[in-house]
Amino acid sequence: MARPLDVLLSAASISVAIGFVTFLLWFIVFNKAWCGYACPLGTMQDWLTGLRKRVGISYSTYTQPQFNKLKKIKYILLALVILAPIGVGLGLLGGEWRTAFCEICPGRMITPLFVGDTSQWSLDFSTKSAAVLTTIGLIFTGLFIVGSFIKKRFFCFFCPMSAMHYIFSDVALLKLRKDGDKCTKCGDCYNVCDMQIKDIADDVQSTNILRDDCIFCMKCVAACPEDDVLYVDFINYPIFKSTKGGFTKRMQMDSLEKKDD
Ligand code: SF4
Ligand code: SF4
Ligand code: SF4
Repeated sequence: MARPLDVLLSAASISVAIGFVTFLLWFIVFNKAWCGYACPLGTMQDWLTGLRKRVGISYSTYTQPQFNKLKKIKYILLALVILAPIGVGLGLLGGEWRTAFCEICPGRMITPLFVGDTSQWSLDFSTKSAAVLTTIGLIFTGLFIVGSFIKKRFFCFFCPMSAMHYIFSDVALLKLRKDGDKCTKCGDCYNVCDMQIKDIADDVQSTNILRDDCIFCMKCVAACPEDDVLYVDFINYPIFKSTKGGFTKRMQMDSLEKKDD
């Protein structure tokens, strides 16, 4: 039997540790900008949104009560990500649950398609746990594709990574800030927010305006028509601010979408 120190220093353990530290560094340096600018699943959702617009179908939104209920799902999934491996360690769950979220994540099935690999699109009946997880994975993938077509960033509302990022957002170096004294509550920032974050317009008290559903896309900053109300800073140094002058120019950019797009 392998000694604990050998397991800890094995190539597999070291590669897991490197992956974990890389993600941690990303969270601490760039906050949730991973979601806005790097995540493959986020990008694929944006492509599906682009396709929907091309075929002229309007997108859906949640009502505020629906939004408030649905946003809690990501915390349930985060608990699954954390507790399932512990359950495996305690011998309560089969080994398949060690990577439960990876098993049910749409990325497991969709990303290999880009290299023509369809092997993940199957049900695994080797054990009861594998059958359950691969079935849930197929259902989630179907929901991801259909949901993202009709709802912008559909999956991001439920993503446990989003909840995990948020845990580190207070110590992150990149920050989304607001000067509420200058806010006119015009709502332009809310209108361009794919994540339907109402606080971005309504909250005039918080300086740190990043919320748990935020994908740090900065569209709100670009859409704000007032000087220095919304801004992004990096270690307290402003790198992108809302400005009256820039507003008109920015509104012509394709990336700024109105709610009725
Ligand atoms: S919320 Fe999740 S799926 Fe969405 S962009 Fe962030 S990490 Fe990717
Ligand atoms: S767009 Fe700017 S001024 Fe208008 S509600 Fe949002 S933060 Fe306030
Ligand atoms: S609050 Fe701003 S940065 Fe966050 S998701 Fe909405 S538009 Fe993007």
